[in-house]
Amino acid sequence: MIDFPKMHRVPYDGKFKLADFATDPPKGGGSEAKQEAELAKSVEKLDRLQRRLFADGRFALLTVWQAMDAAGKDGTIRKVFSGVNPAGFRVHAFGRPSELELRHDFLQRVSARLPERGKIGIFNRSHYEEVLVVRVNPAALAAQNLPATGGKDFWEGRFESIREFEEHLARNGTVVVKFWLNVSRKEQKKRQLERIEDAEKNWKFRLGDLDDRARWKDYEDAYEAMLRATSRPYAPWYAIPADDKDYMRAAVAKILVETLEGVDPQIPKLDAAKRGELAEGKKRLLEE
Ligand code: AMP
Ligand code: MG
Repeated sequence: MIDFPKMHRVPYDGKFKLADFATDPPKGGGSEAKQEAELAKSVEKLDRLQRRLFADGRFALLTVWQAMDAAGKDGTIRKVFSGVNPAGFRVHAFGRPSELELRHDFLQRVSARLPERGKIGIFNRSHYEEVLVVRVNPAALAAQNLPATGGKDFWEGRFESIREFEEHLARNGTVVVKFWLNVSRKEQKKRQLERIEDAEKNWKFRLGDLDDRARWKDYEDAYEAMLRATSRPYAPWYAIPADDKDYMRAAVAKILVETLEGVDPQIPKLDAAKRGELAEGKKRLLEE
């Protein structure tokens, strides 16, 4: 059996190399049918674990999702959370910031959408765009009107802000887990062409996505720096091979299950007052 978390976790020592992480699933990952069966098992467990998380009331789970276009974020989120009580999680898709958001610091809009204890938050894109798309596109940074933006120190400063933010969350009961869906340039082309050829998928295609594709190397550099600087024990990154959707979905679901099993949320123990309340309730119901 593959140890998914161990295999895909980005090391915490700042030495991550993009080239060491595959876009293809590992050998021995199993057939499509096996992946689907694994996914189904995890989907069921996630529902149970989320309900325990709610009953326990001490922890929230924040999941962060980043990837190049067409890596499969939306489909993976849809499948992995398909069995979870809809009241138990919330998805936020972060697009281009509004005029007002641009006037705030870059963590403000994500802070406003964090999950409360008992719930799962899903950030489909996140504050990490601030060291990815914003790093690769100088105009996006200029739009923020910041007092100082020059040089490498600027990005180190952003990484530091992000680490401190996530460590603060962890200290306060929010378990943070982050997925980078690692798609190859070749597979992206295939999926983007499919969006053009397949009438059902036309709506997903944006010409602007090809501009990002043209900056593939810049994005690789930005991803590598970001993963090195921000995968830490209190908020690990997982680099998931994304060229095979079945494998990707099964792996992500398994990592979420194991993360929540690590939290081990508990149904609250009955105290004397609660036991008294139950006895009183039973008596009243039976006497009706
Ligand atoms: P999609 O996820 O396909 O709906 O696209 C959302 C777009 O918003 C992507 O092109 C992102 O790069 C962009 N985006 C998200 N966050 C930011 C940000 N903080 N600054 C600039 N662009 C962003
Ligand atoms: Mg898109």
